[in-house]
Amino acid sequence: MNTQTTSLYGGTGGGVIVIFLQILASLSSSCRWGCQANSMLTAQADRVMAMDEWHQRWEEDKIGFHQPHVHKMLESNIEKVLAGRTGVRFFFPLCGKAVDMKWLADMGHSVVGVEISEKAIRQFFEESKLTYSVEPVSNIQGAKIYKSFDRNISLYQCDLYNFSSSIEGQFGAIWDRGSLVAINPKDREKYATLITSLMAKDCRYLLDTLLYNPELYKGPPFFVPDEQVHSLFGNSCDIERLEPVDALTDRTRSWGLDSFFEHVHIITLKNSSNAVVL
Ligand code: SAH
Repeated sequence: MNTQTTSLYGGTGGGVIVIFLQILASLSSSCRWGCQANSMLTAQADRVMAMDEWHQRWEEDKIGFHQPHVHKMLESNIEKVLAGRTGVRFFFPLCGKAVDMKWLADMGHSVVGVEISEKAIRQFFEESKLTYSVEPVSNIQGAKIYKSFDRNISLYQCDLYNFSSSIEGQFGAIWDRGSLVAINPKDREKYATLITSLMAKDCRYLLDTLLYNPELYKGPPFFVPDEQVHSLFGNSCDIERLEPVDALTDRTRSWGLDSFFEHVHIITLKNSSNAVVL
């Protein structure tokens, strides 16, 4: 305690003030969204993005959410997700044509994704230079499965809510980027129930959320404060927030925003064999 006190105060009054200001700054940043989170959630609570609108976005190539490179948050946290495991089964809800899927498959992991847009799925395989087969899925009406011949990647073309653990079992990892933030806010409880049902005991679920003022932009992507992550998953899961990143760009500025943060959480089932400390 004494050592800490000495280094904290550092012998100068200026040091004390700096530390006090740092503490204030960190409190205000953790409160930036959290303290008003519940009232802010009402701003987007009734917003509904119909499935046709997603199809239309793909048809018109209005896919500003797509990134041509591996997502930084996945790349920088991959060791935490893998926790020493090899050949992990990854689930990608609302996968789009994320290049992250190929990146993981190239490392020897397997990937199952779900996406409503056939165009997105075909583009994924074509742009990744992977040949693939297409077959109907017997236990999901109207669904098709696209499977790579060269890599362990299977993408289901169907509504996410028609997918379940009875189709592909449970997963050792989930990468949720542009998924919880993309589904309609009223469906979040249903989504969380589905996602937790897909988690194997040792699953490490990496969740990317976005924080901004929802009064200024209607979404998607939607505003998801940390409080909501806790209310959705906190009963059954342990949640660790990894890193808040200032993600304001010209694109998000063009939505009328002057503040835009990305939070990454690692979520594991309570009482699981997951207590791996890296
Ligand atoms: N995760 C991807 C895509 C994010 S955008 C990425 O990071 O690039 C959200 C995607 O979900 C869109 O491609 C949209 O077509 C798809 N989608 C939206 N609602 C869906 C649903 N209910 N079931 C399956 N796919 C859905």
